[in-house]
Amino acid sequence: MNLVALPAFADNYIWLVHDGRKAVVVDPGDELPVLQALEQASLTLCGILVTHHHPDHTGGVMALRERFAGVPLWTPANERLPVPGAADAAVHPVRGGDSIRTLGLEIEVIDTPGHTAGHLAYFIQPVGQAPVLFCGDTLFSAGCGRLFEGSPAQMHASLSRLAALPDATRICCAHEYTLSNLRFAAAVEPASSDVAGHLRHCSGLREQGQPTLPAELARERRINPFLRCDQPAVQRAAVAHAGPGTDPNDPVAVFAALRAWKNEFR
Ligand code: ZN
Ligand code: FE
Repeated sequence: MNLVALPAFADNYIWLVHDGRKAVVVDPGDELPVLQALEQASLTLCGILVTHHHPDHTGGVMALRERFAGVPLWTPANERLPVPGAADAAVHPVRGGDSIRTLGLEIEVIDTPGHTAGHLAYFIQPVGQAPVLFCGDTLFSAGCGRLFEGSPAQMHASLSRLAALPDATRICCAHEYTLSNLRFAAAVEPASSDVAGHLRHCSGLREQGQPTLPAELARERRINPFLRCDQPAVQRAAVAHAGPGTDPNDPVAVFAALRAWKNEFR
């Protein structure tokens, strides 16, 4: 199983999985980078996965399905997408607990509400390789998505669910937000050498035009403040910023304080 990040727009990644002949794409917000990558590697598209309804994740779906007629599309059952509906037999609404078979892989569907109400993540454990998670706009390296449709409690539960996956899981986020997220993480945990070291490493990657992704889950647990709401240093920082009304022993309150802080952080 080969994994490729296709840059799109200013800071999106469209993830492409292939076996040398056939490919599946995740969140094709734009069809052009996908068509180019398929042509360059002589691949046929055999599936499209969508994590949530936002246009930067769905904008290329129609054009790809015109080019590859009848290509299966898996989309969140609880969201309305700007793509063909249930009348199309190759459109498969899926929900948490479902599993998808394509490309010889089994893809596990995980409910991750918070960024949007019906947001899904897709998890693969390829034989002989580290697991792969496509998490859309739920989990970012050193950060998390904004709460457009969900509550802090929902997003915290979704992130906790993802954080419980195996250590070696390769986290395939839909945006290159790592550097700005790490600057925020450094404000939350100024004493963390893990955050400072990873910021240096990722700055080097970006200077060379390289993606900072996939992120490794074991490292995310050490650097991502949103996965660390149970850590005393993060709890203290959240209370210091949000005020004494925030209960440091309530992980959802700590998460909500961090999310609000990040929204205004420059
Ligand atoms: Zn989004
Ligand atoms: Fe997005």
